[in-house]
Amino acid sequence: MTPRTPHQRCTFIPPWLADRVDGPGAAARDEELRARRGATARPAQAVAPGGPAWTVHDAGSSTTLPGSAVRAAGEPATGDVAVDEAASGIEATLAMYADALGRSSYDGAGAPVSLTVHYGQGYDNAFWDGTQLVFGDGDGRVFERFTKPVDVLAHEFTHAVIESTAGLVYEGQSGALNESVADVFAACLKQRLLGQEAGEGDWLIGAGIFKPSVRARALRDMAAPGTAYDDPELGADPQVGHMDDYIETTEDNGGVHLNSGIPNRAFQLAAVAVGGASIEGAGRIWYDALVGGGVPASADFATFAAATVAAAGEHADAVREAWAQVGVGPGSRAQVPEPPAQQPTGRLRVERSGGFAGRTETAELDIDEVDDDELRGLARDALAVASRSELPKPDMFVYTFTLEGHDPVRVPEQLLSASQSELARRILQSGRFDA
Ligand SMILES: [Zn+2]
Repeated sequence: MTPRTPHQRCTFIPPWLADRVDGPGAAARDEELRARRGATARPAQAVAPGGPAWTVHDAGSSTTLPGSAVRAAGEPATGDVAVDEAASGIEATLAMYADALGRSSYDGAGAPVSLTVHYGQGYDNAFWDGTQLVFGDGDGRVFERFTKPVDVLAHEFTHAVIESTAGLVYEGQSGALNESVADVFAACLKQRLLGQEAGEGDWLIGAGIFKPSVRARALRDMAAPGTAYDDPELGADPQVGHMDDYIETTEDNGGVHLNSGIPNRAFQLAAVAVGGASIEGAGRIWYDALVGGGVPASADFATFAAATVAAAGEHADAVREAWAQVGVGPGSRAQVPEPPAQQPTGRLRVERSGGFAGRTETAELDIDEVDDDELRGLARDALAVASRSELPKPDMFVYTFTLEGHDPVRVPEQLLSASQSELARRILQSGRFDA
């Protein structure tokens, strides 16, 4: 068994909704429950080669995982609705990844998938815990069972795919991308099962998860973030769909379920523009970007957008335009840091990462203490050039210039300006400036 990195908490229901439904602290209790479970987690199930592609377990309303195995691939329906929904959902999800994307299970190597239903009592969530998929029955008052909308299962499974590929860190923009990519393939699966092309999809995530009395169409709307629900008890859908409305917050891991509306809408626009079935058009492009090596774990929206444009081939313009419409891309505010107006002051850090050896070198200097007008001029010119979204070429470097208190300026090696190149050379090669 390979050692696991500390697991990111990917849950379907964002913390503010858990609190609304179950009272303040519900989300924290939920986390505690899972953390406690994690503390006594059993090792990943050893499955004999040639074993079933998936197995659904029944936790019997307990929080002990995985519970009793009740149905495996190739076995007939059990008559338990949640068990059979999980079974058909995982079959369809594995088939989409295999047939449309050529990926065998979440790890790309045919890992058997373990699922558990009837987790906890009235449990309002679904999650991937790093080893398996887990579904609650819902409280029956606000939430239905979490196996009901098949896109919930595809969303959670995709978190496992992301963990095995780009490993997008579950906080801030990379976390919102993690959430968004999970929604992207959830929507693709739903449309595939309905035989829809991108232009015919409703782009709703979690439609059917709420009981009919709740004023909600779904949990999220990828085409119109912020409009999925507006209910006296739940409040209004707080998602945003444009960088102008980007939410800076420390809650929800830096708003991962809030700002995911921005890349969600970019995908919806791209899918419709590219046309055809979402999974075969924009879905394929997003997948190629995710697994292609151009998306670091800490990727921000602009970096991810650039990777999708690079993977888009003949559709590059359509994909670039989709991102531009949500404020991500060349010329948009998301992309361009505020250049310092005059002579920069304070500490300047230069980082060179990547390259064949994959090393990162960093050096810093305090501009105010530099007694060299030429170097100060280089710093001014270097920082006045905006970040470049283009991907670094294989084995080339990426340079990052960060002036204390300002956004970093990131530039792939092949796009360095003369002043950036000279500044980096001088600072990185001069031992006396090492931080
Ligand atoms: Zn999620």
